Amino acid sequence: MALFDKILIANRGEIACRVIRTARHMGIRTVAVHSDADANAMHVAMADEAVRIGESEVTKSYLLADRVLDAALRTGAQAIHPGYGFLSENAAFADAIAAAGLTFIGPSADSIRRMGLKDAAKAIMEEAGVPVVPGYHGEDQDPEMLAAEAERIGYPVLIKAVAGGGGKGMRQVHKAADFPKALEGAMREGKNAFGDERVLIEKYLVKPRHIEVQVFGDTHGNAVHLFERDCSIQRRHQKVIEEAPAPDMPPEMRKAMGDAAVAAARAIDYHGAGTIEFIADVSEGLRPDRFFFMEMNTRLQVEHPVTELITGQDLVEWQIRVAAGEPLPLAQEDLSINGHALEARLYAENPNRMFLPATGKLTRLRFPDGDTGPGGNGLRVDTGVREGDSVTPFYDPMIAKLIVHGKDRAEAIRRMAGLLERTRVAGLVTNVFFLKQLVTHAAFDAADLDTGFIERFSGDLLPPPAETDDTVLALATLSVIAERQATASSAHANDPFSPWDSVSGWRLNDDGREVMTFAAGDAQTEVSVRYCRGGGMVLDLPGGTSVMADAQLDASGELMARLDGHRVNALVARDGHGLTVLRETGQWKLELIDPMDADMDDTQAGGAITAPLPGKLIRVMAADGQKVKKGEALLILEAMKMEHTIAAPHAGIVSAMSFAEGDQVEEGTVLLAIEAEG
Ligand code: ADP
Ligand code: ADP
Ligand code: MG
Repeated sequence: MALFDKILIANRGEIACRVIRTARHMGIRTVAVHSDADANAMHVAMADEAVRIGESEVTKSYLLADRVLDAALRTGAQAIHPGYGFLSENAAFADAIAAAGLTFIGPSADSIRRMGLKDAAKAIMEEAGVPVVPGYHGEDQDPEMLAAEAERIGYPVLIKAVAGGGGKGMRQVHKAADFPKALEGAMREGKNAFGDERVLIEKYLVKPRHIEVQVFGDTHGNAVHLFERDCSIQRRHQKVIEEAPAPDMPPEMRKAMGDAAVAAARAIDYHGAGTIEFIADVSEGLRPDRFFFMEMNTRLQVEHPVTELITGQDLVEWQIRVAAGEPLPLAQEDLSINGHALEARLYAENPNRMFLPATGKLTRLRFPDGDTGPGGNGLRVDTGVREGDSVTPFYDPMIAKLIVHGKDRAEAIRRMAGLLERTRVAGLVTNVFFLKQLVTHAAFDAADLDTGFIERFSGDLLPPPAETDDTVLALATLSVIAERQATASSAHANDPFSPWDSVSGWRLNDDGREVMTFAAGDAQTEVSVRYCRGGGMVLDLPGGTSVMADAQLDASGELMARLDGHRVNALVARDGHGLTVLRETGQWKLELIDPMDADMDDTQAGGAITAPLPGKLIRVMAADGQKVKKGEALLILEAMKMEHTIAAPHAGIVSAMSFAEGDQVEEGTVLLAIEAEG
């Protein structure tokens, strides 16, 4: 069977771009599909052709198997790559593709079916002699029976939606009294996100590491593994940092896990890329008899690049070749581990607010150039967005995957820290500083890993937001002046003697003075600027200091400032009145107060509670006139397939409750108010 001439990618974002890159490298033409929100997305721009498949909501576009298949037939694509998420683990989709005479770049529909539900998968693995996490994974879903099973397994337990994925539909339970409510939550989330409310129950391991093995099979009966990845650094049961190989892995345990993973793949005649996820009990260190099968992902994994970097293989190319009927490019004995690789997931989210996803426009997005070839800097950035694009509430808030390769773990960590420092992202809240804290933490350096890492070190990882100090205010002020000057000088570009061409000596008022007012949080501060006759300026700052200052923007828009003779760099991103000051050490959001602008007036109703992000109200627990305590749950908002509980910030009486269950709300919508009693 010959390789394909043209393939369709049934996905979006970074993974669609990633697949297009390899296809192009192999001389295969590509077709993208897109929703309305993605009409101008990066993956659409990269592909040779693109087809609109529907509206922005995933249920009206990326999840519509028949639209995707139609697009493939219409464009003459011979095969479909599903990426991850969306239709990638949908057996009916794989069947429909085969029925239409096209090729699914993935496993057989039968393999997907057998591994699709966590309970059935565990039963198959038990049969194949692969150790599984102790628990209950039977048919009976009677709540009382499940509670009795939890008792038998012994608390703490973990309830999982059998159809779950991406860390959704899971609840930890520490005592019997909490079981009924947790069960209800897991079932509801499972039903909302996956259309299946069935659950299984597992013993909750207290100090586990998540270690998974990349497997690959072909249609000629070959199966290999490409070693392990450690994905223990998680928040909300979702991976944040992944690495390969797993630190401190004893060779005999690596062999035991690799053998078990290959046995698992063989047990279901697997072909294509797959991942066997294990959980290892590390209360007594890594031991060959202390790892258990958790689930199998029958697709390419988000974190596959770390495996690519240590093995020197392109896994998407392997997928395409295997789908075309070729045998695996390499045998087990040809594969070896070279160096160490790390991946960090850059998300639009607020680590200080329980990692609440954020949306908005990427007013800035710059990464250093990467080169993972021999003699290169070991950096790779996989992204699906460009500067100026938006992170919308419709899809996953991942902005990019920052990936590094080094000769050993220490070098990989240093490279990652550098990559994070030189990543410029503004316009919305991200976890970039959180990631930097993570990879530079002493316990991470010591590879003291387990899935509780982030929680355990949250005090170090989530320092309170940095104070807006005089330096930050000085940089904000200088950026406003430098930007004004850059605009003015481009307007006078033909006049080399234009007085507008120099920041120093630039005079707005006759007395050479100007006051700028900034708001940071609730506080307002003023910076007074004195333009000196001889050039430069003096900034009188609210902290009581005065500095001699001078600044200009370089070609990329970075601010190069001199403060009392000390050169400092910063990126100050501007979005309307909003200013984001980005430095290696942190990020500050300010607002420039323009006294002439009337719509700056944002009077907020006293005690009003607004929606933190757009979504659907799935539960309304509070009613008008109700007395609530501080911290009491008022509403549950479902956004990005996750539940966010909105609690009372202070005690009081609920009023102005304007919505009911099932209502869709926009970010910033006033949901209700809480009036203090009295
Ligand atoms: P992994 O083990 O590969 O991290 P997960 O199940 O945690 O697997 O993550 C896959 C999830 O990624 C999907 O469930 C979905 O929510 C999300 N997703 C799907 N498509 C995309 C995409 N194009 N870009 C970013 N995230 C996506
Ligand atoms: P998903 O399909 O959402 O990826 P998994 O079953 O793979 O669900 O579990 C996701 C994460 O939850 C794991 O990586 C691990 O951190 C945690 N987890 C899962 N099962 C257990 C368990 N039995 N004990 C402790 N943690 C667990
Ligand atoms: Mg998983």
